[in-house]
Amino acid sequence: MTDSLRSGQQDAPASEHHQHQHQHKKDTLTFRIFLGLALGFAAGLLMFYVPSEGSDLAAWVQEYLIDGVFLVCGKIFVNLLKLMIVPLVLVSLICGVIASEESKSLGRLGTKTFFLYLITTGIAITLALMVAQVVDPGAGISLDGDYDPYVAKERPPFVQVLINIFPDNPMQAMAEGNMLQVIVFAILVGIALNHTGDHGQRIGAIFNDLNVVVMKLVQLIMQLAPYGVFFLVGKVFAEQGLDLLKGLGAYMGCVLFALFLHFTGTYLTILTFLARLNPIIFLKKMRPAHMFAFSTASSAATMPITMGIVEKKLGVKNSVASFTIPLGTTINMDGTAIMQGVATVFIASAYGVELGLAEFLSVIATATLASIGTAAVPSAGMITLAMVLGQVGLPAEAIGLILGVDRVLDMVRTAVNITGDAVVTCTVARSEGALDQTIFDDPDVVEVQPG
Ligand code: ASP
Repeated sequence: MTDSLRSGQQDAPASEHHQHQHQHKKDTLTFRIFLGLALGFAAGLLMFYVPSEGSDLAAWVQEYLIDGVFLVCGKIFVNLLKLMIVPLVLVSLICGVIASEESKSLGRLGTKTFFLYLITTGIAITLALMVAQVVDPGAGISLDGDYDPYVAKERPPFVQVLINIFPDNPMQAMAEGNMLQVIVFAILVGIALNHTGDHGQRIGAIFNDLNVVVMKLVQLIMQLAPYGVFFLVGKVFAEQGLDLLKGLGAYMGCVLFALFLHFTGTYLTILTFLARLNPIIFLKKMRPAHMFAFSTASSAATMPITMGIVEKKLGVKNSVASFTIPLGTTINMDGTAIMQGVATVFIASAYGVELGLAEFLSVIATATLASIGTAAVPSAGMITLAMVLGQVGLPAEAIGLILGVDRVLDMVRTAVNITGDAVVTCTVARSEGALDQTIFDDPDVVEVQPG
């Protein structure tokens, strides 16, 4: 799709002036999103600290601002983003399969991607365990229970999880936003279109057109991002103030440090040495996606943005990105695995439980599986953490201890989660010859405007 758009652009060369204007517009959008983030933070703190507790003003702020304007506008924005997920995955992936033509390359692509997602998650959790083991954030804390216990949810058995990947009803899969099922359905439809000659081509052309429209919609929604980000971040800080950042400092520090290590160490190494791409350019272009992930704490809600950047600014072909990004959003959560690793060591230490090599190995395996099973929505990592804790005999109630500080960690780890998806996508695309280096390197590359 991107290709057809791109060639469309080349056919109609834009004037330099127009290009300059467009570039300017894009810069201000990234900047405006950042401004929204900063102002949201400031507004949140104002709402938290200015009205004295119990005052009329505090009640008014709570009712009309926090639970009023901020809640409504933030939710509307997240809904608008989420509204794009199913159409984007379905249409874009069908186009991707059509473009990859022979389904053999899809198999190779799938294997490579899955393998890289698994390896990076394994590295993430190992790093987290090492950091937590050295720092020992739980030292000095003993769990005599001054926290609200957490009630773990039942998890479906593994076999059922496997069966559930295959939809028995595609409409239901779409209605429920079950991304893995939608991926399977889209791939099957794509393969069928490839094998039905003229009929397939006609329908395929319609999907290609639809894809342009869907991408345009993503761009339109992007324009609202500065406001959306403002309301989302404002509400979070208005409710908890800076307390969000205090307390359990050692635990938070450990998680953030391990996230940072993985981000700079693992990702940038993979980009530089495996994909042979400039990590600085990558980071610069990913900035809007990072801000989205941070504000929404949901990789799913951020997915349309990640996909747009990877295709249009990093030069990855739709045939790769349409598959790897939705898959990564669903199963690849390195940031979540890191939090789970640190949390396990922290809780074990707070309970005075020694973890041996066997326990560490089992944490690595379970946290990798847990991050695959974690839904790409806020706080989902806390639910699957219960599974990891259970594996080494720690009580799920202990999650109550770290729940209070999880929000801000969730925001940061979501940004790491989506970075992992983009890094693997670029690496796989590179190895498949599906990454346009000139687009990647071009600092001025502007988003291709359909139509
Ligand atoms: N919020 C994370 C995400 O959407 C999942 C989690 O760790 O809670 O990527």
